[in-house]
Amino acid sequence: AGANSAAERDVAHVLHPYTDHKAHRAKGPLIITGGKGVRVTDQNGREYIETVAGLWCAALGFNNERLVQAAADQMRKLPFYHAFTGRSHLPLIELAEMLVERAPVPMSKAFFANSGSEANDTALKMVWYMNNALGRPQKKKVISRIGGYHGVTIASASLTGLPVNHKLFDLPIAGILHTSRPHHYHHALPGESEEDFATRLASELEAMIVAEGPDTVAAFFAEPIMGAGGVIVPPATYFEKIQAVLRKYDVLLVADEVICGFGRTGNYWGSQTMGMQPDILTCAKALSSSYLPISAVLVNERVYEAMSEGASQIGTWGHGYTYSGHPVAAAVAVETLKIYDEMDIAAHAAEVGAVMQKRLRERVASHPLVGEVRGVGLIGAVELVEDKAEHRNFDPARKIAPRLVGIAENHGLILRALPNDSIAFSPPQIITAAEVEEMVERFGHALDDLSAQLKR
Ligand code: PLP
Repeated sequence: AGANSAAERDVAHVLHPYTDHKAHRAKGPLIITGGKGVRVTDQNGREYIETVAGLWCAALGFNNERLVQAAADQMRKLPFYHAFTGRSHLPLIELAEMLVERAPVPMSKAFFANSGSEANDTALKMVWYMNNALGRPQKKKVISRIGGYHGVTIASASLTGLPVNHKLFDLPIAGILHTSRPHHYHHALPGESEEDFATRLASELEAMIVAEGPDTVAAFFAEPIMGAGGVIVPPATYFEKIQAVLRKYDVLLVADEVICGFGRTGNYWGSQTMGMQPDILTCAKALSSSYLPISAVLVNERVYEAMSEGASQIGTWGHGYTYSGHPVAAAVAVETLKIYDEMDIAAHAAEVGAVMQKRLRERVASHPLVGEVRGVGLIGAVELVEDKAEHRNFDPARKIAPRLVGIAENHGLILRALPNDSIAFSPPQIITAAEVEEMVERFGHALDDLSAQLKR
């Protein structure tokens, strides 16, 4: 690499998200220059299978020509218009219509933003506004889960339940509380069944609502399956029990479908897989296969009614982004949803996802370093442990999972490490069974290399 190599220019000028800056200066970036299907290529021409679709998002892979065409066409027709104060445009209308039609439960309206974080911020401001409109402004506390991931803006980072997003930022903000994460493998009591574990978590939630005062608790935010917090699939009856508590105290359910939406879990929505009936649903990422930034918030009639009544009583809902429903992003999302229909994305993900779940278990579940293999459909995780019997993780300071991520690059695999040394699997939804086999095989070899290194 010469004085002006891209790696050096990166280190000189780019401030990277979620990065240890000092380590980055020493190691430099992996620079991706192209992609095809589920694979990406670095600047040296090396190819990698993208096991997490970038950031759980490039559902149609890395070279879908129809999305390119949809963007170019819309750029020529109308590159920008907005949706404030009664203005509208056709991509916005078509996308809202398509989302409402595809919603897992009856929904009334769709609002647009540019990221998952903004969608969740928006959902929170809808809940607050709604309760103001209903004349109960004190009902504004929100409960989410430890390990949940909802974004990084001040409010969405507060909803997120990970220490890295809280501790150095004086978060969460007041009124955002966290209840336990439904991970049976780590948090069940000795001998406790999944069923009993779910019952206990629902009781814990109820106790929290009662202690706070039910008239002060407005909403519960949850991903159907926690993603960034470790791919935590809750017990089968968890959401049924949680929702019984929420209904009892008139607490809204907000489903964060930013990762689970659009076939990821083997149904069109994660809410369907986990039996959730949300009042509000947020989505992003695969909404446009991430070719352009766009997110959406769907609300049911009850929420919309309260919000539309609100304006006359308490003033306009003062919220919206310049790029809410950006026409080019919306046109790409519309084309994305059409492609999902044509390929029957949920059926495809269920079928290939079953292969992924099975092959991951066959290849690595009995591996001495593997504590748990979990997931459903095309989302999964392999958790590495120091003590298999005790379910005990390695000392985080040893950075075992990040080390595996490094080794995997040599096997042509881009991996993502999550908390508790868990490795995520969330490949583009277009992945084939043969590509799943190849991905799992490469992962198995990387894991064998890691064990060999640890024995040395
Ligand atoms: N919600 C979930 C479930 C996510 O996984 C993410 C991002 O990974 C977000 C929200 C935040 O989305 P964004 O990074 O687009 O702000």
